[in-house]
Amino acid sequence: MGRYRLLALDLDRTIWDHEDVSSTEPPYTRLNRDTVSDSRGCLIRLRAGVREVLETLRGRGVALAVVSWNLYSKAAAVLEAFDLLNFFDVVIVEPHPYKDLMFGKLLEWCVSRGIKPGEVVFVDDRPEMVGRVKRAWPQIAAAVFGAEVKSFEEVLALVLDP
Ligand SMILES: [Mg+2]
Repeated sequence: MGRYRLLALDLDRTIWDHEDVSSTEPPYTRLNRDTVSDSRGCLIRLRAGVREVLETLRGRGVALAVVSWNLYSKAAAVLEAFDLLNFFDVVIVEPHPYKDLMFGKLLEWCVSRGIKPGEVVFVDDRPEMVGRVKRAWPQIAAAVFGAEVKSFEEVLALVLDP
C-alpha cells in the first residue's frame, strides 16, 4: 500500500460533471453506466474512470470518503442512482461551504480506524476548498481537480504512488 489510507472526494465537478446537484430534482433515473437524469431531464455524468478507481482503491484497502457542500438527501440519492453509495466508508454532505469543519468530523472517524491525518488525501475542484482544508489541517494532502490532477487516472496515481 502507498502512503495514503483514505481518499476524500468532492462531488460536484469532481466525481461528476454537474456543478450543483442540490439544484436538481429527484427522483433520479439511471440512463446508462455513467449517466443519471433528474426528474426534469437534467443530466449528471460521472467522470471517466471514477468507478474503476473506486474499485481499485477499495481492493487495495484504501478507505473512501465523500466530503461535499450539498443537500445530503439529493447527493446521496444521486450516488445511489449511480450504485456508488455503498463504495464509500464515510459520506459527509452538509449544506455549507466549511469543509474544514467537515474534515474535523472525517478525522474523528479516521481516529477510530487508526488513520492519521498524514494518511489522508483530498481532491476537490475548487482551490478555495482545498486551501481552507489545508489551512485547518496542514498534514492532509490535497489536490485541485482540473489543475493538479486532471483525470481519475491521475487521482489513482496520486493515491497509490505519490
Ligand atoms: Mg466541487
